[in-house]
Amino acid sequence: MSQADSIFTKIIQGDIPADIIYQDDDCICIKDIQPQAPTHLLVIPKKPIPCLAQATEQDHALLGHLMLRVGDIARHCGVEEAFRVVINNGADAGQTVFHLHLHILAGKAFSEGSLV
Ligand code: AMP
Repeated sequence: MSQADSIFTKIIQGDIPADIIYQDDDCICIKDIQPQAPTHLLVIPKKPIPCLAQATEQDHALLGHLMLRVGDIARHCGVEEAFRVVINNGADAGQTVFHLHLHILAGKAFSEGSLV
């Protein structure tokens, strides 16, 4: 499967359905199909960067844009007081879709001081 054919690219192109929370010229936010928390959203750049480690200086503004939209979306969804943002980079870190995405997780108590 080429990078252009990732499941998220197909969602961005409207070829397969998704529950879209937000989109603009540079990113889309959808509900995760297998939620790990009461609120589980994915913020996905429209540019198909395979993973965070493959982002380049050219992506500087885009990465900032994604982080700012995370805050906006958290406020929109009423979870701005407590949410977790996760990026899995690489299969051994749990990445299953090789198109950069930020997980927004909220609505449950996360372990204090624990990242896993
Ligand atoms: P990761 O394991 O970090 O690559 O995260 C990929 C995420 O994409 C998982 O949480 C999946 O549940 C989610 N996912 C996969 N396919 C879809 C889909 N068609 N719609 C929404 N979320 C999806």
